[in-house]
Amino acid sequence: MRKLIGILLALMLVCTGVLAENSKVTGVGKGNGIEGDVVVKVEADAEKIYSVEVLEQNETPGIGSVAAEKIPEAIVEANSLLVDSISGATVTSAAIVSAVREALTEAGLDPASFEKTVEKSAETEKTEAELTCDVVIVGAGGAGLTAAVRANQAGAKVLVLEKMPMVGGNSLKASGGMNCAGTKFQEAQGITDSGVEAFIEDTMNGGHQMNDLALVRKMAENSAEAVEWLASIGAPLPKVAATGGTTHKYLHSPEDGSPVGTYLIAKLSEQAEKQGIEIMLNTRATEILMENGVAVGVKAEDAEHIYTVKAKAVILATGGFGSNFELMSSFNPSLANAVTTNHPGAQGDGIKMAEAVGAATVDMDQIQLHPTVYQATSMLVSEKMRSLGAILVNQEGKRFTNDLATRDAVSAAELQQTGGYAYIIFDQKLVDHNKSAAEYIAKGMAATGDTYEKLAENMGLTGDAVAAFVETMNTWNKAVADGKDEEFGRNNGMDDDLSTAPFYAIQIAPGIHHTMGGIKINPDTEVINTDGAVIPGLYAAGETTGGVHGGNRIGGNAVCDFVVFGRIAGEKAADFAAQH
Ligand code: ADP
Repeated sequence: MRKLIGILLALMLVCTGVLAENSKVTGVGKGNGIEGDVVVKVEADAEKIYSVEVLEQNETPGIGSVAAEKIPEAIVEANSLLVDSISGATVTSAAIVSAVREALTEAGLDPASFEKTVEKSAETEKTEAELTCDVVIVGAGGAGLTAAVRANQAGAKVLVLEKMPMVGGNSLKASGGMNCAGTKFQEAQGITDSGVEAFIEDTMNGGHQMNDLALVRKMAENSAEAVEWLASIGAPLPKVAATGGTTHKYLHSPEDGSPVGTYLIAKLSEQAEKQGIEIMLNTRATEILMENGVAVGVKAEDAEHIYTVKAKAVILATGGFGSNFELMSSFNPSLANAVTTNHPGAQGDGIKMAEAVGAATVDMDQIQLHPTVYQATSMLVSEKMRSLGAILVNQEGKRFTNDLATRDAVSAAELQQTGGYAYIIFDQKLVDHNKSAAEYIAKGMAATGDTYEKLAENMGLTGDAVAAFVETMNTWNKAVADGKDEEFGRNNGMDDDLSTAPFYAIQIAPGIHHTMGGIKINPDTEVINTDGAVIPGLYAAGETTGGVHGGNRIGGNAVCDFVVFGRIAGEKAADFAAQH
């Protein structure tokens, strides 16, 4: 008997040991460093990251190599991906964090659950410090990094302040591409009908003609040059497709099917680092400094300092306010309980700072719902999925709208369906061409099936809805073959049908995505005050501004907005600084 108990106890111990071991998983991931891939191995469970081991890196000794040593330690210690970058090695630091993110995903864990802000130890007395530069840029998202690289190319000494522990902002989450018209990439693919005028028309129609036409024209006319400039700094976007709300193929994206945001932010940070631009992380600007009506710097603070940054010109590139529920609800109370795809730093700081020095705002109540958001984790399912051929169906197994109409129209149609949600349907062929699709599957967001019928069952469709779904898919494939969608008049994203098994479905519903309103600027990105006059020395670009997108932004225009106007802001601010 005693022997039996002994064996049972031993078995229990082994089992608990096995269980504890089993909940720990390992994954390998890679990120783009300066000198090629940085590869890491991560051991973690759903609650904790136990170890991060760098398997491969060729980063610059003494700079990137320091990050390769320190960042893994910091991630494990903080049990968070939101750790401070190593100064002077932001690209390697970001590469390690993205490699860890990929490794967690590969291990079947959700990287988002390791995005807790690291608590700083007890408040310390802050010391005052003074910094000087030609151009101070607030925000290191797409607009800020573009402006920084460009202003520095134009000869200015640039300082970038970023309040978060990492660069990228909402831009990092941009998954589709950059709309541009009249580019050499379009020409190379024989797309000759996607000119500037058609792009302007689509943008104005998409925005319900509320857009500032002068800004739209500036964006469209400068888009080809902007995409070529990206190529010149090692960030080409050669693949071209259509996107929601456009009548032609404008959407430019990376060759390898990577999401445009992570790709561009890595390339822009790398370029900023190469040019020796200083980016201060964890440093929040709080106020614009004015002297005789001219912007002459900002006040900012980090954990230990209060900075007076003296500059000859100021660029606000602080992004939108899609995570500031109080501010959004003040314009639209129905948004109080919506999910948001925005990063936590999207609080509208720049808009508030600009208003405090007299800036005008436009279209603040225009807040975009994106129709394909996976509600459980607020993860955006890229519009590019539909550009590549995915469709939307409801719980009755039927399509209900032109899937690639403007975002506001598709969101409104979805809210009319049973339960206020829908499914996005795609096939293996699409997954093979799109890294994001593979990521959604790895994250466990998709139901799957080897036949349409099996997929319908796995989606939870019952009764007549299963047969209706099979019919919907067959009808759709025929519409693609015929090049004509009789039912809903969809006329783009129809290059490929959905006939390659296995098939996939993700349940989605609308979520807050983009704040179209913001600081009023002119086409030179100069900030305009409430009397309609320019505030000298103050520039703004990207989602913090209003007017470019009017009442609804079309997919692919946020990236175009931040690259085009980021470049202009960089050039104009550098010019202004040179003259003062
Ligand atoms: P855009 O696409 O216009 O560049 P993003 O959201 O990508 O917008 O980037 C905006 C960046 O500005 C984010 O990284 C955000 O954390 C940063 N930011 C916002 N407010 C401040 C602030 N007060 N000080 C410093 N950085 C800020």
